[in-house]
Amino acid sequence: MTFWPDVSAGFTGTSGGCGAPKNRGGCCHSRSDRPAWVEVDLAAIGHNLQELRRLVGPRVRIMAVVKGNAYGHGAVEVARVAAGSGADQLAVAILQEALQLRQAQVACPILVLGCALPDQAFCIVSNSITQAISTLQMGVALSTAACSLGKTAYAHVKVDTGMGRLGVPVREAVQLVSELQKLPNLGITGIFTQLACADEQDDVFSLTQLARFREMLQGLASYGANVGTIHAANSASIVRYPESHFDMVRAGLVMYGLPPYPGALGNMALRPCLSLKARVVQVRLFRRGSAIGYGRTYEVNKDTVLAVVPIGYGDGLPRALSSRGYVLVRGKRAPIVGRVCMDQLTIDVGDIGDVEPGEVVTIIGDSKSECISACEVADMAGTIQNEIVSSLTDRLPRLYVGK
Ligand SMILES: *Cc1c(COP(=O)(O)O)cnc(C)c1O
Repeated sequence: MTFWPDVSAGFTGTSGGCGAPKNRGGCCHSRSDRPAWVEVDLAAIGHNLQELRRLVGPRVRIMAVVKGNAYGHGAVEVARVAAGSGADQLAVAILQEALQLRQAQVACPILVLGCALPDQAFCIVSNSITQAISTLQMGVALSTAACSLGKTAYAHVKVDTGMGRLGVPVREAVQLVSELQKLPNLGITGIFTQLACADEQDDVFSLTQLARFREMLQGLASYGANVGTIHAANSASIVRYPESHFDMVRAGLVMYGLPPYPGALGNMALRPCLSLKARVVQVRLFRRGSAIGYGRTYEVNKDTVLAVVPIGYGDGLPRALSSRGYVLVRGKRAPIVGRVCMDQLTIDVGDIGDVEPGEVVTIIGDSKSECISACEVADMAGTIQNEIVSSLTDRLPRLYVGK
């Protein structure tokens, strides 16, 4: 029977336990408090950032995107590793995520990519967080907060070149920047846009967006505006459109070793960083014809051995994997049978041999020579890999390896 994996680092996270046991094998209470966990290879994050640096060259800055708890990998740990591995700045989606990093003493520049409300301005400025803005009203709020704090507020202007989401419409951007730059104690230190279709096959719309963005930048240059760091590229765009790199790239997926679209690696040798594992808690023989789980949706068509794995949609694993997905046991695929429950799922291990309680099951990651990628899990569940990894909840302890 396989017991806990040999690891050189301990768990962190919200599951309690004894923190970070250094004595392998000796202290097992923090490990046994939850026999399901996310394993994150921090060395792979560092490696992927090096590969990204090689791709973009020395001149382009790298913004490590750690929103959504660093796509499920753990925001604080990833932010620290990224800051020490060549990332120049960090990005998050919401103020709360930025505050979490500041509370963990992460000192580097943090951009909040999402929209803020004026009543958040004081908190943003007092924590030295850079805010994406697309209205004069928010600029005024930041400026006012900065004046009252005796500080400077920093903002990047977000421009909508066709994404149809946040941002100032591209034709109004030059005017907005000129008004923002008149406000006291407000520094416009960047301007950016986001491509809607960088991971779609057709190039036309991406190139149109980039052309609109460049035209707007020329408009700013023609009146001598200095808007700081210019950026546009997410992972798909980094790989696909070198002309979108400008002064800085915003790397999420590629930093985590997740190809932004099939085959898209841009000659980078990326390594996935995240594995999802659990240990079997029950093994039982089921007779042909037995119905399994809620709704009795799955019927066993021969005598077989089923194992219960203590992880479910309450941990962020999609219920859509019910009777569709696979997990790996000893390098072999075992199908998920019946419905995924909140806290457990059932797999058929009839073809695998003597599986016992305690056996490690890999839901995402490598097991011997087999691998199930986050992308494959997403395909089985009818969604995208970003959703799979960023949905993994805090109930799953994070085990950091490769520190
Ligand atoms: C999430 C996000 C990114 C990172 O996207 P990836 O495809 O994961 O690299 C970049 N820019 C913005 C504005 C984002 O919201």
